[in-house]
Amino acid sequence: MVLAQLGGSISRALQQMSNATIIDEKVLNDCLNEITRALLQSDVQFKLVRDMQTNIKKIVNLDDLAAGHNKRKIIQQAIFNELCKMLDPGKPSFTPKKGKTSVVMFVGLQGSGKTTTCTKYAFYHQKKGWKPALVCADTFRAGAFDQLKQNATKAKITFLRKLYRVGSCKNCSRSGRHKQEAALFEEMRQVSEATKPDLVLFVMDSSIGQAAFDQAQAFKQSVAVGAVIVTKMDGHAKGGGALSAVAATKSPVTFIGTGEHMDEFEVFDVKPFVSRLLGMGDWSGFMDKIQEVVPMDQQPELLQKLSEGNFTLRIMYEQFQNILKMGPIGQVFSMLPGFSAELMPKGREKESQAKLKRYMTMMDSMTNEELDSSNPKLMNESRIMRIARGSGRHLREVMEMLEEYKRLAKIWSKMKGLKIPKKGEMSALSRNMNA
Ligand code: GDP
Repeated sequence: MVLAQLGGSISRALQQMSNATIIDEKVLNDCLNEITRALLQSDVQFKLVRDMQTNIKKIVNLDDLAAGHNKRKIIQQAIFNELCKMLDPGKPSFTPKKGKTSVVMFVGLQGSGKTTTCTKYAFYHQKKGWKPALVCADTFRAGAFDQLKQNATKAKITFLRKLYRVGSCKNCSRSGRHKQEAALFEEMRQVSEATKPDLVLFVMDSSIGQAAFDQAQAFKQSVAVGAVIVTKMDGHAKGGGALSAVAATKSPVTFIGTGEHMDEFEVFDVKPFVSRLLGMGDWSGFMDKIQEVVPMDQQPELLQKLSEGNFTLRIMYEQFQNILKMGPIGQVFSMLPGFSAELMPKGREKESQAKLKRYMTMMDSMTNEELDSSNPKLMNESRIMRIARGSGRHLREVMEMLEEYKRLAKIWSKMKGLKIPKKGEMSALSRNMNA
C-alpha cells in the first residue's frame, strides 16, 4: 500500500469513528480493525500490530471513562501514541555538525537508491547553507561513477574525482549472489576503515517491507550504521512495514525518499509523520513551511491573524498564491494541515494546481467584505450566484470551494491562541505544537 493510501485508510477509520453518534465497543473495534487491516496490508509485522491493538484497548477502557470524557480524543491520542511507539527506534540519530568537515558514508544493496539518495542528501544540505561534496566509492557497479558525477553536476554539487579503490571486485559480476554480498560487506568495511566516516547511512528500498529488519541487522553487523534512509516510499505497498521494521532494529530513520527527483526527499520525524498519517496535519512541517512559503514581511501578520482564529478566505487565497509560487506542489500540500495526501494526491499535481487556480478565479469575484470575513453564514445564495456568474464557473464549483474553505478553516483554527514567536523561535514553537 502506498503511504498515502495507508494514511488515507487510517484517517478514514478515525473519521468514521468521529461520525458515530455514540462511541461504544463496536465503534472502537471497527476503527481498530480497519487500522489493523491497513497496517497489515502495508506489511507491518503481525506482532507489532496485535500489540498495538491490545495496548489501545487497555488504555481506552470505555466502561471506565465517565460521561463527559472526550472519548474520540482519547482514542485518537492512544492510536497516535501507539503508532509513534511503533516507529520510534528510541535512539536519536547523529547529525553532522556545522563548521566541521564530516564524512558521511552511504551503504546499501545495489539498486536501493544510494546514488540518488546521496545526491538528494547533499542537495538538501546545500540548500541549508552547507558545502557538501560527493565522492564515488562504488567499485561494484559499472557506471556508478558517471551516474553520480552526472547527478552532482545537475544539482551543482562539488564532485571530487577521487575514486576509492580498496577492495577488488573485478569478478563480482560473474560470481554468485552470496559471494557478491560477502564481497560487498568486505569492501564496505575497507572503505569505512580508509575514510573513517562520522556517520554511516544505510540506504534501504522500502519495497522489501518487514524483511527490512534482517537487511538492516546484516548491515549493522558489518559496519557501524548510524542512521537509515528508506527510499521509494512513493510507489510501494510496504512502506509502513519497512519503517516499523527498521525501528525495531533500533536504528533511527532520518530521511525518506519519495520519488526519483532531487527534492523528493523528506526529513523523517516520527511525531509529525504520524500526525500526517492520521490526517492531523504536520504542524512542525507547517511552521517550517510558513517560513519557507510565506514572504518574511507577511509572516507576522499571518501568524497574528491565525492566533486570533481568523482564517479568512483572503488568507486562503494568499496561501494558494504562495504555494503556486513554490513547488514542488505535492510536497508543500502534504505539509500543510488539511491538504492531505489523499485530497491532493501525489502524481496529480497538475490537477491540484489547476484546482487552486480555479478557486482563485472564483475568489477574484468576491468583495472585500466576503474575503475578509470569517463568518461562513455571510455567503448566502445570492452572493454564491453572483460569484459563479462573475467568475464564469458553475454554482456547484463555488460551493465546493466554500466547503474546502470551511474544512481548512476548521483545521487551521487550531492555531487560535498561538503565542506569536519572536525571531528564531519558530522551531521551538513547532516542537510545542507537536507535543
Ligand atoms: P544504487 O544502485 O543504490 O546507487 O541505486 P540508484 O540510486 O541508482 O537507484 C536505483 C533506482 O531507484 C533508480 O532508478 C532511481 O531513480 C530509483 N530511486 C531511488 N530513490 C527513489 C525514490 O525515493 N523513489 C522512487 N520512485 N525511485 C527511486
